[in-house]
Amino acid sequence: MTEQTAAKVDAKQIRRMLDKHKQKMKLSMGVCARCSLCAESCFLFNLHDNDPRYMPSYKFINSLGRLYKKKGRVNMAELEEIKVNVWERCVLCTRCYCPFGIDIPDMITLARNICRSQGVFPSYGIQPQ
Ligand code: SF4
Ligand code: SF4
Repeated sequence: MTEQTAAKVDAKQIRRMLDKHKQKMKLSMGVCARCSLCAESCFLFNLHDNDPRYMPSYKFINSLGRLYKKKGRVNMAELEEIKVNVWERCVLCTRCYCPFGIDIPDMITLARNICRSQGVFPSYGIQPQ
């Protein structure tokens, strides 16, 4: 087990962050028709040969959606998986278009903030001193 996965997650803190945005985020997730129309507007989806893991809807369902579903009770390994979805598979370019008006970058941003609150974020090769 790495130092990172052994670290403890503050589920209460995550819950507080989720609760703050609950109304808007739950509404967005409820409205999502899983139609995949947003996928075409994501250049990363196109760049990765239409890999479904790059679909904007996949990214928010498997980050923020997962956090809401588990009511913040996730472990470090799950946060690491979420990190991949919200950083490696999204650059927050805000180009994704949803005909239902779902603000996908807003959801990805909240998932990033939650990861950050638990010390989970990309290091970009920078080692701590
Ligand atoms: S976010 Fe919008 S466009 Fe994308 S799958 Fe959901 S409803 Fe369809
Ligand atoms: S904000 Fe993320 S999901 Fe939306 S188009 Fe840009 S890279 Fe794709």
